[in-house]
Amino acid sequence: MNKCDDQNLKVTLDKSKPAHGFFIVVSAPSGTGKTSICREFMKLCPDIQFSVSYTTRLSRPGEKEGIDYHFISEASFKEQIEQGAFAEWTENYGHLYGTSIHTMHRFLTRGFNLLLDVEPGGAEALKKNYPGGVFVFILPPSLDDLKNRLNKRGETLEVIQKRLNKVMDEIKEVIWYDYIIINEKIDQAVDCLRSIYIAEKSRKEMLKDRLKPFLE
Ligand code: 5GP
Repeated sequence: MNKCDDQNLKVTLDKSKPAHGFFIVVSAPSGTGKTSICREFMKLCPDIQFSVSYTTRLSRPGEKEGIDYHFISEASFKEQIEQGAFAEWTENYGHLYGTSIHTMHRFLTRGFNLLLDVEPGGAEALKKNYPGGVFVFILPPSLDDLKNRLNKRGETLEVIQKRLNKVMDEIKEVIWYDYIIINEKIDQAVDCLRSIYIAEKSRKEMLKDRLKPFLE
């Protein structure tokens, strides 16, 4: 269901160019605490920007337009698909979600690093089409823990079973991610994500400009 077929845009995300940021994609099955981990992480690392996705779902209480998502109509979303505006997009529980190419381009070419919260299908499309991404999967401490969290949402058994099946399919994708965080305790999980970010920022490829004067 994911689409990422604008070949020209690959050029804009060449990590080897100076003053070029990189992106971290975080995926996790629902109920794993991903949103809280990302929020805390961003407070600690204000130099990373969040890639605000487009979605056709309604905003939940507390969510803000342009901060959590760009909430748009299905017609508008489909128009943007036609225009090739998404680096990837997907349908999730009847709603559409997409990552804007323009957002990625704007931040990365200015040297900012980006955090993307995208499910595994979209993450796979990004990995295939945009070199230089860092892929992080967040897991719950155990399957029982995940089932308990899903059970607590007050939904019918049928809905819970459906969600669990989807989650199990998503978890199978963990094998091709670069890093795995097991969310036993939120503080440790945030610490782990921050460590990944700092390590990736310290790669010599990311520091080419800073290195130059030392080598000349
Ligand atoms: P929620 O509706 O709970 O905010 O998000 C549902 C799922 O959609 C989450 O797994 C989240 O990672 C995923 N998601 C959010 N934005 C995007 C996006 O732009 N592209 C894709 N492929 N998935 C997204």
